[in-house]
Amino acid sequence: MEIIFICILVFCIVSLYSVLHAPAERWLMRRHYKSFIKVEAYYRNIICQHLAYFHRLNKEEQHRMLFRTFLIHRGKKFHYVGVEKKDEMPVLISAVAAQLTLGLESFSLDYFRDIYVLKHDYHYGYYSLPFMGHVDSTGIYLSWDNFLQGIHRAADNSNVGLHEMAHALAYVNFITKTEQDKHFSAEFRNFSEVARPVFMEMQKGRKTLLGDYAATNYHEFWAVSVEMFFENPFRFKYELPELYAAMVNLLRQDPYELIVNRKAAAVA
Ligand SMILES: [Zn+2]
Repeated sequence: MEIIFICILVFCIVSLYSVLHAPAERWLMRRHYKSFIKVEAYYRNIICQHLAYFHRLNKEEQHRMLFRTFLIHRGKKFHYVGVEKKDEMPVLISAVAAQLTLGLESFSLDYFRDIYVLKHDYHYGYYSLPFMGHVDSTGIYLSWDNFLQGIHRAADNSNVGLHEMAHALAYVNFITKTEQDKHFSAEFRNFSEVARPVFMEMQKGRKTLLGDYAATNYHEFWAVSVEMFFENPFRFKYELPELYAAMVNLLRQDPYELIVNRKAAAVA
């Protein structure tokens, strides 16, 4: 008798959860949105000053990116290691994550609660070369001076923020599987049909605009492709058109078109 009662109770709890979960999520999101509206100008002001990509978006896309930046920011714990905390740090780091995932439904990189900000290159594990950033099970690590160089386009086609967020996106979709974006995880197979052969050829010595580091392993190939996709879409589309098209389909964004459209709008 007791077992039947427990079974009925569990069934009721599960049913109640499934019925109330979606409305509760929507209610929570509306509350977050109300909070966001009050600080939207603050986020816009910081992001406008630093991210060229943001200026290429239309108003609706900008609004979505700002809201997502706000949500990512409030969902993470930022740690500052040997670097003085500045207000723009968590905003810009969150904005770069929002940039990468703007075309996807899932964007919070939920597995990663902690983001560590360091000042310069640093040593990690037994590797002899210094790191600009990395991702592991304990969090996302970024060196602030390299991060700034990347978003200010001071480093040629290199953007460590996008690079590490690309690793984090793959991590939550394929390793922890804690936040699988339906489109991204399904489309990645199609991306790999194009990308794997390029990667294999690079491992055999083929030179491409992605550079030798992309041939290290497939994880790095993916992260470097993301950097090049956003930082140099013209050259990427021209030299590796099939891979570029696969990236557009995968991320549901087209940085080349954004620049071309903006130029066309400026002329009109
Ligand atoms: Zn990497």
